[in-house]
Amino acid sequence: MTVSNIADEIKKRRTFAIISHPDAGKTTLTEKFLLYGGAINLAGSVKGKATARHAVSDWMEIEKERGISVTSSVLQFNYGGYCINILDTPGHQDFSEDTYRTLMAADSAVMVIDASKGVEAQTRKLFKVCVMRHIPIFTFINKMDRDANDTFELLDDIEKELGIATCPINWPIGSGKNFKGVYERGSKKVTTFSDTQKGTKEGESREIPIDSPELEEFVGADNMGQLLEEIELLDGASAEFDQELVSAGKLSPVFFGSALTNFGVEIFLKHFLQMTTPPLPRKADIGVIDPIKEDFSAFVFKIQANMNKAHRDRIAFMRICSGKFDAGMEVYHVQGNKKQRLLQPQQMMAQERHVVDEAYAGDIIGVFDPGIYSIGDTICMPGKKFAYEGIPTFAPEHFARVRQVDTMKRKQFVKGITQIAQEGAIQIFQEYNTGMEEIIVGVVGVLQFEVLKYRLENEYNVDIHMENLPYEYIRWIENEDIDMNKLTGTSDMKKIQDLKGRPLLIWVNSWSIRMTEERNPGLVLAEFGRS
Ligand code: GDP
Repeated sequence: MTVSNIADEIKKRRTFAIISHPDAGKTTLTEKFLLYGGAINLAGSVKGKATARHAVSDWMEIEKERGISVTSSVLQFNYGGYCINILDTPGHQDFSEDTYRTLMAADSAVMVIDASKGVEAQTRKLFKVCVMRHIPIFTFINKMDRDANDTFELLDDIEKELGIATCPINWPIGSGKNFKGVYERGSKKVTTFSDTQKGTKEGESREIPIDSPELEEFVGADNMGQLLEEIELLDGASAEFDQELVSAGKLSPVFFGSALTNFGVEIFLKHFLQMTTPPLPRKADIGVIDPIKEDFSAFVFKIQANMNKAHRDRIAFMRICSGKFDAGMEVYHVQGNKKQRLLQPQQMMAQERHVVDEAYAGDIIGVFDPGIYSIGDTICMPGKKFAYEGIPTFAPEHFARVRQVDTMKRKQFVKGITQIAQEGAIQIFQEYNTGMEEIIVGVVGVLQFEVLKYRLENEYNVDIHMENLPYEYIRWIENEDIDMNKLTGTSDMKKIQDLKGRPLLIWVNSWSIRMTEERNPGLVLAEFGRS
């Protein structure tokens, strides 16, 4: 394949994450996207909720039990000349760390908001990560077929709560039983809403110009009056569309629709694909790496065990950042300092995994991981040696001391807990200056403790005993030459170290952090760990 073909392939890539508060409609919207891409058929999309939400990303028993998506999945499909990679993210807040990492692999984010609820807790958290990365954020206000909050209030809510300006690309006419469709500000046409019976029936929506007499007939005089008034208000008050601001993550284009009835989804997709970016250059330690000019490179953003229970496999997900990947080619794992071939490279296609022969910057591939990769690792071509900026380790907020019940199972216990930590689901620490006898586990959300217990029992056949610890605050020590024995802390402080021997401190009370700093001049503490 010639260089220009590679460039063409990369330019048509669009890689984005969907974020939302649970129940806003992320799964439903994703399924409708796939429908347009022909990746799933209609029948596949109309299963009941229980099956639908598991159809795509059901990899762990625990997800079935709890009815939440614990893991993220990646889906690829083609639409309108684009090659689209959707990074699905877990909905439950206790797994937000996983979502943070997934956002590191995305070039933009689609934020799904429930029109009757506005901005919710989980949206706010995830949104902060998007802002940190300056990626474009698109808003889909969903469930317009249900009674919605006032449209201006919804926009206000986004602007105030999230601190981002909004620019409605279309505007709803009514909501709930009175929902008539959306008015597109650019084309000055109304796309009429038709009941597709939850998306099972082909929609019969029409486009009617705003000045056509037919429109008033369709929407009714009251709606028509209100629409005209709102358009006037909107044109006077809202931010103008500005692609540069959108690309910089400072202005969010807003769309209205109803994922369930498949209304407004294709309109959204079309605009979104034009407004979002293809893979952009990324920062590495040697400078910025251009996705087109440079040879293959990627970084690991996620490690997932048990993709397939029968095979006990572990998969490392990599985001390709530059060039083209060919199966079988020799690559270089920077952190491991080893040349290697990536084993069983694969991609997700709706429900199925399939082996990939080639992939391009923007794509996500999963490769078989015999236990050598860690989150944040860089893979590039032999002869090159650079590392992409690491993915920050988020500070755990809950700690527990963990040991195995059966002392004979020490080996399985250490193996299991280490592997689960490498995946980034938990962080493990030891007391300073002791071995692995006592393991302290730190998690961002308490549900992770349950996942750990469950997985150790089911995958490693080890029962554990867990004792909750009162610590809530953690800091990484940045000083390279610190003498931990000389460090004077507070009575609620504990000195610990991570698996790489890096020193950390944990405290019960937040004010103790400041006191410790005061007692140890020159001590540099960091809130995030570096991978
Ligand atoms: P997620 O948790 O964000 O993935 O949300 P789901 O896609 O699972 O949707 C949550 C619930 O809202 C489900 O019962 C959906 O059928 C329903 N839902 C999703 N989109 C819409 C919509 O546009 N209109 C209505 N009325 N319900 C919707």
